[in-house]
Amino acid sequence: MFRPSWIEIDRAAIKHNVIEIKKRIPQALMAVVKANAYGHGAVEVAKIALENGATMLGVALLEEAIELREAGIEAPILVMEAQFPETAGVAADHDVTLSVFSADWLREARTHLSDRPLTVHVKVDTGMGRLGLRTSAELDALLEAADDRFIVEGIYTHFATADEPDSELYYEQQERFTQLMDGLHSRFRYIHTSNSAGAIRMAGQDVPYNLVRVGIALYGLYPSAEMASFYSFLRPAFTLKSKLMQVKQLEAGQTISYGATYTTTEDEWIGTVPVGYADGWIRKASGFEVDVNGHRCPIVGRVCMDRFMVRLPESVPVGTVVTLIGGPVAIDELATHLETINYEVVCQLTSRLPRRYV
Ligand code: PLP
Repeated sequence: MFRPSWIEIDRAAIKHNVIEIKKRIPQALMAVVKANAYGHGAVEVAKIALENGATMLGVALLEEAIELREAGIEAPILVMEAQFPETAGVAADHDVTLSVFSADWLREARTHLSDRPLTVHVKVDTGMGRLGLRTSAELDALLEAADDRFIVEGIYTHFATADEPDSELYYEQQERFTQLMDGLHSRFRYIHTSNSAGAIRMAGQDVPYNLVRVGIALYGLYPSAEMASFYSFLRPAFTLKSKLMQVKQLEAGQTISYGATYTTTEDEWIGTVPVGYADGWIRKASGFEVDVNGHRCPIVGRVCMDRFMVRLPESVPVGTVVTLIGGPVAIDELATHLETINYEVVCQLTSRLPRRYV
């Protein structure tokens, strides 16, 4: 690796988060490692989670599931995003569980299966308005279409507002799911509704669900600011670092970067940091502050494709480490600056930034 910019993933922090979540939540734990474990590295995170109490993995794509299988991971894997029925045979051959939501899907998928049955979880849409069946009639039809080439192992729904403690919709979704499940509990080995926010909200309650799908909390991040107090035990695992490539003094009146949007007002020390929007460090990060030797240094001028400039308090040696995310620069601070959520920040940093595990 030549480039002096990298993402550091703290294995011990992920282990800590998994153990602490397990202590509080009695249900079986599915570690959600889709999107390369929210940018943290799917295989690494899956291994840590499985070694410390998770028993299942959740991904979005069949490709993501196969990557885990090819890395030697044998735990059950649920693909939560819809897949076309043509993928059923490949999924079954890799012992991967798919999410299903219609009888027609099963009828079509059957023609793509060899002799291995396909394990499925039924996805119910109780108010998210995306994937899933909505009525008892649809569920009955699906169960009827599920012959012995399918193992209908689970049923689940997903909350739209579990991270908003005042939301009515959260309770409405629970109610719809309860009604749909009336008399059907014994039909499924796994019944699950909760992401990180929902899981911690139902901790300690007597609920008829026996699996939770936890993503963001594994990584030590809160599902929302409102959930911070529920999850104060978390430790973030993600740090983005780089090194100053060039440091120079510019006299007053010099402009910086494309569009010349920043003009020095006095003699200023300017450092160049080799991370840019091609790494997912987007132009909207202009104006944000990064850490250099314990000083908060503003990004001046526009972020370029491969680098950006910071104003330094003084002359600093080339090679000095710059912390863009992590430690003194909280990821949620950056998310607020970018007008987004921490989920999007960790997912948008590309594979051009090597991951180092410490
Ligand atoms: N379940 C489903 C269906 C999801 O799509 C996701 C993530 O988006 C999760 C669980 C995990 O959510 P979180 O990262 O908020 O725990």
